[in-house]
Amino acid sequence: MNKLGVRPYSEPNESLLGYCVRLSKRNGLSGLRMLYDLIGVPNIGKNKSRSELDRSEVILEKLAPILGRDLSVLREAFSAQSPVWVYDEKRLIQDIRIEHPRICPNCIIEKGFVDWRWGLAHLSTCPEHQVLLLDACPSCNKPLDWHSSLLQGCHKCGATWEGMDISKRPITSLEEKAWVHATDNPSNYKDLLTDICAAIVVAGRPYDSYHDRRNHAPTISEYSSVVSLAYKILTDTWTQEAWIGSCKAERDVCLPLGDKVTYAPVLSLEKHARTFKVTDIYGSSGGSDSTTFEENAEFVKQSRFNVIPASSDTDLLRYQVSSSQLTKMLGLPNGCIQQMVDDGVIKPCNSTNVLRDQLFDMRQFSKLFSDACQAEASGRLVTPKSKELTTHLTSYGKVLSDVASGVLNGSITDSSELNQIVVNELQYKKWLAAMLENACSETVPAYKAQAALKCGDKKIKTLIHRGEIKCSRLCTSYGSIDGNSLLEFITKTMK
Ligand SMILES: [Zn+2]
Ligand SMILES: [Zn+2]
Repeated sequence: MNKLGVRPYSEPNESLLGYCVRLSKRNGLSGLRMLYDLIGVPNIGKNKSRSELDRSEVILEKLAPILGRDLSVLREAFSAQSPVWVYDEKRLIQDIRIEHPRICPNCIIEKGFVDWRWGLAHLSTCPEHQVLLLDACPSCNKPLDWHSSLLQGCHKCGATWEGMDISKRPITSLEEKAWVHATDNPSNYKDLLTDICAAIVVAGRPYDSYHDRRNHAPTISEYSSVVSLAYKILTDTWTQEAWIGSCKAERDVCLPLGDKVTYAPVLSLEKHARTFKVTDIYGSSGGSDSTTFEENAEFVKQSRFNVIPASSDTDLLRYQVSSSQLTKMLGLPNGCIQQMVDDGVIKPCNSTNVLRDQLFDMRQFSKLFSDACQAEASGRLVTPKSKELTTHLTSYGKVLSDVASGVLNGSITDSSELNQIVVNELQYKKWLAAMLENACSETVPAYKAQAALKCGDKKIKTLIHRGEIKCSRLCTSYGSIDGNSLLEFITKTMK
């Protein structure tokens, strides 16, 4: 194939796709697509599971002959792409390369090319001009694309970058640092990247308890503002206070369940971003910062929208939590949530049976416990450590289930945690006996029998040899015990 008529060299820090646009423009082509057709880069097709950015090698191979340059020289010119941008399982945004164009209009006017760093999802503001990077035309609001007029203005409405009034936005010092690291040695700053990505996802969903891990940053026209807010959330005390204050106002239905639940969005950021610590958030005054926090639907996985009932209860998204979050927030031992699900006391929002993937509506709990609990003035305190639970072959989760469903009268003693509950003493005794009887109506695993008898392996074997308790009929080893014989023995020895 013939060489292109005009073959400019790439500029330092020029993006590959931006360079292709510049080549198109200089050679009278309309943009990326037309250039690709000309040089034989295959269409990516409808199945966009692969990113345009993963095709750099194909593009460079096709460019080399029409530019009359060595492939190795071209590779070297565009080698700034680090594998760090593509994947890191710890990040809430795994691939931080943005495929569509994002630009600083002032830089374009001055330098005439697209900087590859504008395509990094964790950056928001041009450090030279202190303006937000644009991914849509400020004049017509349409998204920018890789058209050859990109270097001059918007091809949709004809507005030019020159003379456009774009408001200044001061860059935070943390973001300035991130710009330097981008060209430095990004693999040294993986932790910083993890924190920034977490803050971006949280800034996109400031009132949600649970945040989705994403493959890519969402495509929204306000994306740079969200990233800019993320830096402020990470570094600016006023912004933090304003956010904490509005969490309290926006999530007030959670107040009866305590601070950990009310401020779950803040705790979610603390969990995902290791350098982010809001000390004493609960004492926060709420702040007087004018920052506004907007919820962006695009930051939520479609599958979470799918579970919202027809009543379009979009607030539900705020209160969805995973079972591990629930366990932590409510101060519960493992297994309680599963027990409550099995008993039908709480229902997951989604249809999966895998507890790890289940999401729950936090509000079920405030309703559950304010409805079910009647104050027990002269009750008995039960906690996950209460020994009578294991000796009666039951669990704390079962106590919660039965209090929640009204089988057992009880009340929460400390509104912020569900890890202690006061129950009616008399009722509780009967309940424990019923639990033991129920468990003994079938075969009991030996380890549970040991817990019930507060004894070890040896003692169980001795009891079996003496005929005081029996092995299960179906089992020849000591692995399982006949429930009836166990119940008889316990009843006898307790007398
Ligand atoms: Zn600039
Ligand atoms: Zn426009």
